[in-house]
Parts: sequence; structure tokens; C-alpha cells
Amino acid sequence: MRRVSILGATGSIGQNTVDLIARDPQAYDVVALTGGANIARLAEDARRLRADLAVTADPGRLQDLRDALEGSGVEAAAGPAALVEAASRPADWVMSAIVGAAGLAPGLAALEQGATLALANKESLVCAGALVRQAAARTGARILPVDSEHSAVFQALVGEDVAAIERIVITASGGAFRDWPIAALTSATPEQASSHPNWDMGQRITIDSASMFNKALELIETHELFGIDPGRVEVVVHPESIVHALVGFTDGALMAHLGAPDMRHAIGYALHWPDRRVLPVPRLDLTQVAQLNFRAPDDTRYPALRLARAVMARGGLSGAVFNGAKERALDHFIARRIGFLDMAGVVETVLERFESKAGLIDAPMTLDNVTRTDHLARDWADAAVTRRAG
Ligand code: NAD
Ligand code: MG
Repeated sequence: MRRVSILGATGSIGQNTVDLIARDPQAYDVVALTGGANIARLAEDARRLRADLAVTADPGRLQDLRDALEGSGVEAAAGPAALVEAASRPADWVMSAIVGAAGLAPGLAALEQGATLALANKESLVCAGALVRQAAARTGARILPVDSEHSAVFQALVGEDVAAIERIVITASGGAFRDWPIAALTSATPEQASSHPNWDMGQRITIDSASMFNKALELIETHELFGIDPGRVEVVVHPESIVHALVGFTDGALMAHLGAPDMRHAIGYALHWPDRRVLPVPRLDLTQVAQLNFRAPDDTRYPALRLARAVMARGGLSGAVFNGAKERALDHFIARRIGFLDMAGVVETVLERFESKAGLIDAPMTLDNVTRTDHLARDWADAAVTRRAG
């Protein structure tokens, strides 16, 4: 039996992972499941999968979790330190599917104990790519990408020589507003941004798809995961979300990965790697798809892509600044304190403010420094929002 843990088990990626594991309960020994406010979901899945441990991120909900697990024999814990402890429990495979920078410390803990890390939490690579890679190198732990684009690239690279990569192309659906006139975006609401044309995902990543902040994070993720020069990573808008990514080789070949938009493919590939198993995902009928469209992303519509390129050129802790400021700008947009187009402005203001203080971005990349930088970026994003309102 393989020992598995799921960090962020109650979310969109987490629930798809639970679905795959629950189909073959004999094959897995579930160590830990973690979640947030949805105690009922967490407790039900922990019982159903016979987990050793269930952890809620919210320390105030420990008693609720204990009550919900009463008589099950599942241990209950709560709070950020308990999340790290859960990730440190010996396991063969750990799904990292917490949303945001909160996923960094638990993901690192899983790598430190040598578990294979199925990485959906792209924010940890954006904030601290070098730390994540070093932790994996220290213990020999593997990182298997779960983001659909990065899983696609990973699959296209099986048996290939990395030196023969000329470029990587990741696709973007363009999100909820891809066909809106730019002028209309000023008044776009969180509800409108929360409906994705092709994928069913958590609310935050869905809004990030509409603003292209998700693709901006993924540009950095591609650079960090595959060690490829930022100038060789391209983004192409592909409204159908059928081609997830392409790898171009030095001989001119372009290998594309196609599939229906269902995250259980990328999760299942990471779960069964290096094997391929039957997965419960829709099969494509190319005659039904009929057409695949591609176009260049518009830089005025999607300033997040320009900011991501600046962050990759700058290096240091600028990824942590970018992500922290982005997370707070998104909170403020969801709370209706700023408009949709203001999010990129807030992030850019915070990046500039960091740049004006000598040494901040170039401090050594340690977990402490990344955490401090993340907190400061959030504070300065709040300040930038207050100034805009005033
Ligand atoms: P989600 O919002 O649906 O779920 C997030 C999970 O993290 C939940 O279990 C929640 O309880 C937990 N969580 C939230 N805040 C937390 C905190 N502060 N501390 C600890 N736990 C916390 O998110 P999602 O859409 O499943 O995305 C999860 C990750 O996977 C993100 O990094 C996202 O970018 C990435 N991803 C998601 C998809 C998708 O299809 N949803 C695709 C590719 C990548
Ligand atoms: Mg993706």
C-alpha cells in the first residue's frame, strides 16, 4: 500500500485527488488530510479514506473538527504548525494543493521527509523556487507537476534530452473576459470573474485566470520547474483549452499535449507516475472539437504577464513580493475595494516600493526571509489600496 497525504484536501484539486484515491481504497494508506473552514467535508473524507490524521488550518475550529471526528479514530489537529507536522509524517506521495503562499512551508516539509511531491501549489515555486529545489535535492525527493500545462510539458519531455529544448509554449484560455472590450473591464465584478469558460476550479485561480495572473505565475513556474531561460517560455491564448502546452525542440519539432479540461488527468498522471493507468476523464473526439484557435496575448489587456517577465529578470525575492501583493490585491478585488484592472496596478506599486529599498529583494532566500517578504508585500498592498481609495 502506498502512504499518501493530501494538503488542501477540501479544495478543488484536493477533492479531485480524493476522488481518484477513493476509487481504489485497497491501494492506499491515507496518512493525513488537511483543509480549512469546511470541517464537515474534511471529517467526512478523513472517515471515508480512514486517514490517520485530519488538520484544519484554522486553530479556532479544532473543537469542531474533534466533534466531527468523534468515534472515528482519526486524530484531529489545527493551525499552521499542525499543517507542517502533518506534511512531515512519513508518506510516499504528498499532494500539495493548498492555495497561496500558505502552501510553501507544508510543501517544503513534505520534501524534507523525502516524499514525492505532487505540486499543484504553484505559488511555492513563485515565492521560493530555489528553496523548493534545494529541499528536493537534499533528500532526493521528486517533484511532479500537477498544473495542467506543466504536467503536459513534463509528459512531452519523457525520454527527451533537456538540452534539446528550444522553447516551451504554455496555453491560456484567456479567462472569463477574453472577449470583453477593455473599457468594460473597469467595472467587472468578482462574480463575473469567477466563472471560467472551460475549467471548473477554485474561486481564486478562476479570477486569476481572468486577469492572467494565473498565467503570470505559471510563466515563473515553468522557468523554475524546468530550469529554462525566461526568454524561451511563451504564452499563447487558446480559447478551447484542449492543447495544454507544447515543447519545441532544436530540430524544429513541436510536441503538443492535448486533452479534455479535467484536472484528474494531471493529478492521476502524478499519482501513477511513471506508469500510465486508466483514468476517469472524458476522451476527446477531434471531429467534435473541429477547430483549435491560437492568438498572441494582448499586453494591455493582461499587464500581469509583463510583470511576471520583470520578476523573472529581477530574481531574488521578487517572486515572493509579486505573489504576496497579488494575493492581497485579489482579496481586495473580491471584497470590492478595488476594481478588476486595479489589481495589476497595486502589484506594480508594491514591486516598485520594494525596489526603492536597498537590499530587500536581494536578501538571502531562506524560509524566514520569504515569509517576512510575503507579509511585507501584503502590508504594502493594503497601503496601496488605501491610498487609491483616499
Ligand atoms: P481551492 O480554493 O479550491 O482549495 C484550496 C485548499 O487550500 C482548501 O483545502 C482550503 O481549505 C485550503 N486552504 C486555503 N487557505 C489555506 C491556508 N491559509 N492554510 C492552509 N490551507 C488553506 O483551491 P484550488 O483551486 O484547489 O487550488 C489549489 C492549488 O492548486 C492552488 O495553488 C492553485 O493555483 C493550484 N491549481 C489549481 C487548479 C484547479 O483546477 N483548481 C489547476 C491548477 C493549479
Ligand atoms: Mg494551469
